[in-house]
Amino acid sequence: MSGSLHVATIAGIRININYTWLIVLVLLTFSLAVGWFPFAAPGLSTGAYYLLGFIAAILLFVSVLLHELAHSIVARARGLPVSSISLFIFGGVSNIEQEPRSPGVEFQMAIVGPVTSLILGGISWLLAQAVGSASRPVTAVLLYLAVANVLLGLFNLIPGFPLDGGRVLRSIIWRASGSLRTATHWAARVGQVVAFLFIIWGIIQVFTGNLVGGIWIGFIGWFLLQAAQSANTQVMLEALLRGVTVRDVMRPVAAAVPPDLTLSQMVNGYMLPLGLRAVPVTRDDQLAGLITLADVRHVPRDEWDQTPVGRVMIPLERLHAVGPTQSLNDVLPLMAHQDVNQLPVVAADGRLLGMVTREAVVHFLEVRRGLGVNEAERRTNTRLPAAPASPVPPAPPHATGAPS
Ligand SMILES: [Zn+2]
Repeated sequence: MSGSLHVATIAGIRININYTWLIVLVLLTFSLAVGWFPFAAPGLSTGAYYLLGFIAAILLFVSVLLHELAHSIVARARGLPVSSISLFIFGGVSNIEQEPRSPGVEFQMAIVGPVTSLILGGISWLLAQAVGSASRPVTAVLLYLAVANVLLGLFNLIPGFPLDGGRVLRSIIWRASGSLRTATHWAARVGQVVAFLFIIWGIIQVFTGNLVGGIWIGFIGWFLLQAAQSANTQVMLEALLRGVTVRDVMRPVAAAVPPDLTLSQMVNGYMLPLGLRAVPVTRDDQLAGLITLADVRHVPRDEWDQTPVGRVMIPLERLHAVGPTQSLNDVLPLMAHQDVNQLPVVAADGRLLGMVTREAVVHFLEVRRGLGVNEAERRTNTRLPAAPASPVPPAPPHATGAPS
């Protein structure tokens, strides 16, 4: 997610906060200071109410984080890699890099989040009872956390994908039908219905005078709708690309340069004439790195004559090279995760074989759809030539984001 700040690492999982979350922090602090604490703990100063509002908002943030950590820890215990947790305007997201391999795992991963929230709500409520009238401000914070966590748990149990309840639904359909694709299709459908209901509810709220609340609910609906649709598209894409390997879609590189070439030679000899936004750097056929427009731009122009490509390129260790036999279904998430449009394809001996680009994948899918070819037919009939045998003209410019 763009615009995120890395704040901590817990159990090897990066915790990122998106700047949109700060908007929530301010709004929540304000609304709690004005709308909740003066009633729950009367007789305090305005400053005290803002302080309580801020503390309660931060503790809610911790609650959302614990909800996400529960998902992530179960996912990791079941062998799925978890890179990070992001907190943003609508809550939190665990960035789990693979789909669960069985409905049982999906069920456990999904249900543990809402269960955590409900338990946190219960604990807060019990603590509030224990503190009682001994400290009204503390009790007011605890009661707020009790209500907020229970609502968080219940909201997430709504059975529309991508909410946790939608994942639970998906795991049940998956178990019953044996097909992740069918299950995702239906869970996403229900998710779309839920999203539309939110949008309609938001619109009704706006027209009945609750402008801010209505817009908020409408936005949540819109967000859910996007997520449900992309989940469905994702699964359809996976089905279409099943059995397709990197070799099937990769393209030969238009040019590769040695690391000791200067930036001006590289720009004038390759980037400009060939219209390239990224050029692979090779040393005796072996991939050594990749240099992009962005890397070149970081160097002042008057230093281009003295700066070798090898000094500013993204070195091999930071590049995510893929092998020719890797499944495209494993490579696309890597591209999305790294936020790059192309990945170098490297043989087992380190030789650069070509590039796999998002555009090439889209093109491949279009051709395949145009021909009405599916993978099962393709494997039994004559094999289509994989990559173009003749040298292709320089690929159109691709934005290649450096993994910054
Ligand atoms: Zn959750």
